[in-house]
Amino acid sequence: MKKTFAGKSKNMTFLGLAVLMSAAAVLLHSCNKKTEKITEQKLPKPKPTAKVEEPITASDKRTIYLTFDDGPNKGTDNLIKIIHKHKVSATAFIVGKHVFGSKKQAEEFEKLKQDTLIELANHSFTHANNNYSSFYENSEKVLLDFNKARDSVKFKNNYARTP
Ligand SMILES: [Zn+2]
Repeated sequence: MKKTFAGKSKNMTFLGLAVLMSAAAVLLHSCNKKTEKITEQKLPKPKPTAKVEEPITASDKRTIYLTFDDGPNKGTDNLIKIIHKHKVSATAFIVGKHVFGSKKQAEEFEKLKQDTLIELANHSFTHANNNYSSFYENSEKVLLDFNKARDSVKFKNNYARTP
């Protein structure tokens, strides 16, 4: 079984070439003045693609970054459970006002903050108050909103995702 997209792509290219060669053979024969009937046996049969296990090389390796937005929220506990079950790391893009929204959210935020598999990043303070058109009309206000989240939540990096 092929493990890489590039490997599958090569196979598809090979099949595509086989189909093109078959079509070219049909055209060449039909243009020929000799009125020889073409039977299926004369057409090159497409070869089955060999299923060769190819070792994964360094250039085949890909990285997936898992990110989760809008926390802390109702899904935070599940996020933490799943991350630990699968032993993968993730970035939680935090909404500042959620951190200070309720006691429960503050507790959820502390869990995220203490978690060694989770990195926290800025997802604004207000989440545009869910009014995106007016939020993005004023870039200075957008910056102020992100800075407010940065200063109140105290992120350890400058990663940000717009709401
Ligand atoms: Zn969001």
